[in-house]
Amino acid sequence: MQNRKLYLITLAALAAIFAYLSYQISVGVGHLQIIFLDVGQGDSILIQKGTKQILIDGGPSGKVEMAKLGKYMPYFDNEIDVVIATHPDKDHIAGLVEAARNYKIGKVLTTGAGKNTEVYKEWKEILDYNKVETIEAMRGDKISFDDAEIKIIHPQALVDPAIGEANNKSVVTRLDFGESSFLFTGDIESSAENEILESGENIDADILKVAHHGSKYSTTDAFLDKVTPKDAVISVGKNNSYGHPTEIILEEFKNKGVEILRTDEKGDIIYKCKSQNAKCKI
Ligand SMILES: [Zn+2]
Repeated sequence: MQNRKLYLITLAALAAIFAYLSYQISVGVGHLQIIFLDVGQGDSILIQKGTKQILIDGGPSGKVEMAKLGKYMPYFDNEIDVVIATHPDKDHIAGLVEAARNYKIGKVLTTGAGKNTEVYKEWKEILDYNKVETIEAMRGDKISFDDAEIKIIHPQALVDPAIGEANNKSVVTRLDFGESSFLFTGDIESSAENEILESGENIDADILKVAHHGSKYSTTDAFLDKVTPKDAVISVGKNNSYGHPTEIILEEFKNKGVEILRTDEKGDIIYKCKSQNAKCKI
C-alpha cells in the first residue's frame, strides 16, 4: 500500500514537471503576437514574443487589464519589459496603475504631457515607488524587440508637462516585422496627424490602430491616404457615451476598401506573425 502511494506521488510529480517544461518551451519558441485587448472604452495592446512583452496603454480598468494580462502572459512571467503610456487619459492609464502594482516593469516610454487627475497621480506615484526608469518618447527613438523594430513617430519634440489637452501629444509608434507593419496612434487628432505628415516619416502600414477610438476629429483623408492600411482596428466600448466610432470614419474606411475590426464586436483581436516573409495574420 505504502509503495503504491509513493508510486502515484512520483508519477504525479513527473507529470507536473513534464507539463511545466513543455509549457515553457512552447512559450520560449512562441511567435510574435500583437493583441488588441478588449478592455471596453479605452486602449490596451500587448505585443508579446515568448516571455518578452511591450504593453501599449492599459485601458480604463485595473481589474479588466489584470484579467487580460493573466490570460495572455506566461504563467510564471511577472515582468513586462516596456510599457508605452501614450498619454495620461484614464482610458489609457488606469489599467497601467494596476499592472505596475502586479508586474515588474522594465521601463516606461511616455509623452511629456501630464494631467491633473487622481489616476495620473497614482500612476506617477507607483512608478516613483518602484523606481521605474521613465523616458520621454520623441520622434526618432527606437526600441528593438526580438526581430521586430518599434519606432517612435510622434511627438515631434519635447512636450510642456502643463499642456492640458494631451491627445495630440500621444506617443505614436510604428512596428515593423519583416513584411508586416503596424501603426499605433493613441488618441491623436488631425493637428498631430498633420505634424506627422509634415515630418515625412514613413507611416505606410498594414494594420492601423485607429486614432481616438474612431472619433470624427481624427483619421483625416490625407492621413489615411498615406497609411493605406489593409485593416483598421478600433478599440472601443459597446454603447459608449462618446458615440465612438463615428459613422463618417467607418464610411471612410469602407470607401477605401479597408477592413474594420472592432474590439466591441470581436473581443480581443490577435495578430500572429509566424515569419518575416509572410504577413501577420489574425
Ligand atoms: Zn482614449
